[in-house]
Amino acid sequence: MPPAATVAAGHGPDRPPGAAPAELLRRLRARTGGDADPVTHVERVPARPGEQAPWPQWTPEELRAAFARRGIVAPWRHQAEAADLAYAGTHVVVATGTASGKSLAYQLPALATLLADPRATVLYLAPTKALAADQLRAVAGLELDGVRPATYDGDTPRAEREWIRRHSRFVLTNPDMLHHGILPGHAHWSGFLRRLAYVVVDECHTYRGVFGSHVAHVLRRLRRQCARFGRTPVFLLASATSGDPATAAGRLTGLPVAAVTDDASPRGGVTFALWEPPLLPGDQAPGAGGQAGGAGDLAPVRRSALRETADLLADAVASGVRTLAFVRSRKGAEVVAATARRALDEAVPGLGDRVAAYRAGYLREERRELERALLHGDLLGLASTNALELGVDLVGLDAVLICGWPGTRASLWQQAGRAGRSGDEALAVLVARDDPLDTYLVHHPEALFGRPVEATVLDPANPYVLAPQLACAAAEAPLTPADLDLFGDGAKEAVDSLVAAGALRQRPTGWYWRHRERPEVDLRGEGGAPVCVVEAATGRLLGTVDGGSAHFLVHAGAVHLHQGVSYVVDSLDLDDGCALVHPEEPDWSTHARDVTSLTVASVRSYVDAGPVGLFLGEVDVTSQVVSYQRRRISSGEVIDTRPLDLPARELRTVAVWFTLSPESLAAAGVEPADVPGALHAAEHAAIGLLPLMATCDRWDIGGLSTALHPDTEAPTVFVYDGHPGGAGFAERAYGTAAQWLRATRDAIAECGCEAGCPSCVQSPKCGNGNNPLSKPGALRVLDVVLANLPGPGAAALPRQGDRRAE
Ligand SMILES: [Zn+2]
Ligand SMILES: [Zn+2]
Repeated sequence: MPPAATVAAGHGPDRPPGAAPAELLRRLRARTGGDADPVTHVERVPARPGEQAPWPQWTPEELRAAFARRGIVAPWRHQAEAADLAYAGTHVVVATGTASGKSLAYQLPALATLLADPRATVLYLAPTKALAADQLRAVAGLELDGVRPATYDGDTPRAEREWIRRHSRFVLTNPDMLHHGILPGHAHWSGFLRRLAYVVVDECHTYRGVFGSHVAHVLRRLRRQCARFGRTPVFLLASATSGDPATAAGRLTGLPVAAVTDDASPRGGVTFALWEPPLLPGDQAPGAGGQAGGAGDLAPVRRSALRETADLLADAVASGVRTLAFVRSRKGAEVVAATARRALDEAVPGLGDRVAAYRAGYLREERRELERALLHGDLLGLASTNALELGVDLVGLDAVLICGWPGTRASLWQQAGRAGRSGDEALAVLVARDDPLDTYLVHHPEALFGRPVEATVLDPANPYVLAPQLACAAAEAPLTPADLDLFGDGAKEAVDSLVAAGALRQRPTGWYWRHRERPEVDLRGEGGAPVCVVEAATGRLLGTVDGGSAHFLVHAGAVHLHQGVSYVVDSLDLDDGCALVHPEEPDWSTHARDVTSLTVASVRSYVDAGPVGLFLGEVDVTSQVVSYQRRRISSGEVIDTRPLDLPARELRTVAVWFTLSPESLAAAGVEPADVPGALHAAEHAAIGLLPLMATCDRWDIGGLSTALHPDTEAPTVFVYDGHPGGAGFAERAYGTAAQWLRATRDAIAECGCEAGCPSCVQSPKCGNGNNPLSKPGALRVLDVVLANLPGPGAAALPRQGDRRAE
């Protein structure tokens, strides 16, 4: 039952005049007393009026009228710009903010073409069925004659499929359906494909890593089928704002793509505060008092982001301010809500009732009740996971609290954008967790408010992706030498390996698939067969976990979240590829640890920088998950560390590594005994900061450091892609090494702790229990590297105008 139902409507405090963002922030700050100011930066993101452009001349009157019925009188400038480019035949990616109207940018040229040419067709790809369904509603709502939009996915009844293939001119689907259904069945689609004018790739930033690399080849297969009919459709992509969208879109499609990035849509003003919880005095740290769990646990820690968020939520509610707190886990959201309620009830009995937790799985009526309660002010505070995006329509919030960096700038702005929709000024607060990236970001506002550096990365040349995709292509139509250019670097080697393995046969006319059955390739499966997660009591299949991360995520004892519901794993059977679980919501989270060894297989590229070397190459990694930690969710306190008995696994992947000469380390003041701890600390922080450069999280990458590696014969730090064949993360790290390691150095230096803590050099997944670690040593190591590496790292990240720091 929604908690708000217990409060009578209409007797809440009126919104006080002081709810303006600056005043609210002053109040939140005041509660921390005279100690260190937790606010590291305040950014005033000014309201932007929005800039319209005239409809392009080629816009049919019928389409103009249809948009007008929807209340759109003219496009925003960026929409018109992207539409013009696409209409003229240029492949284009529009990469602008949340709710900036990217849909119109592709609907306009696509639908204009369908109206002008009664035979033309459009294929629209979304990463999820839900998004495709949304877009279907939007396009169908325009009621344009002869377009006949239709979704075509796994849920489409057989009876409707043929009609769609024959008659729909705007087909909405997803890459999986294109891969499994449309391309293998291209003979049935020839009428559609030979008239294909546009391919729309929506939310294209979600095609990253190994999945993105697969999708890149699915798009090449689509281009190949169109080319057989002499068609070269125009690609129209939409992306969240990211670093270098043109390059990412180019890699995804294999085509030159122009980028439109100047967002001309209007937005409300936001005061954005960056908040770093204070370090706790040693005797109050949850690790103190003898809980074992590794040498690092006695280090100082910060007040937990959850506690801090709960306090801010309580203070905001006490001031009568409608506030939404985003927390990453459902359990975390419940802790925040419960803590805030308790604090409020202590101050004014009954006031706690005005705070609730929101979880996925609420029924529609419950969600509506929640919206109503918030709208009327019966409910003032809500703590939620980002499941809220799935179906609650909240307007008129005054403040948004974001507990921990949500992973990407796109998510950050999506969450912050929940505040101030009514046009009023709003307050957003990002509360840093104890993580090196969070630490960096709250000290480097230019990385958040300036031009983005995080790029969507993928690696279509990954042989573990390329070979199976070429097999799929050959099964659709024999491969020719010309096709090898289409599929890019490594295609010839991959074809040769398929011939050697007996999958393809070479004939004078090309390479032929030898089997009757089509190859089985799962775009989303990676690193071995997926492991099924099964509820033991009912036998219900909850989902799958990819083979590569099963050891980490569903080992016996692991707490496994599935659609917001918590399960505990009873057993993991690797032979059957099955993890048995039962529903349980313990007060702890689990963190697996592994031990790793690594050999260098080949060097792809390197930079010789005197005493420092920087390398990119293939490596063989052997890793074994050996234990896991249980940590109290509310405080982060380590409860215990438990052993696991899992086999070691081998991984051929791509790594970036740097070496330093022992002399240069000695000259920088790193004692020989300190070298292992210095390198280890630098490695942890470098892994933590890589998501700043590429849209990965620290679970996509691994690392290893050693004072003497047999293959490099020098002190070395390796950072590798956690996926077979690599996913583009290490490559991006190599390409931006100076910038990446500069940010790593700054994150360590700016952490106020003395000897290293989870906010800088400790890692939650360290196989060595965060031992040894030397924070001062890590700074010296990185200084040596940065002093020698060429590149832009000596300068800070690029800044951009349009901002005023307070
Ligand atoms: Zn620290
Ligand atoms: Zn470690």
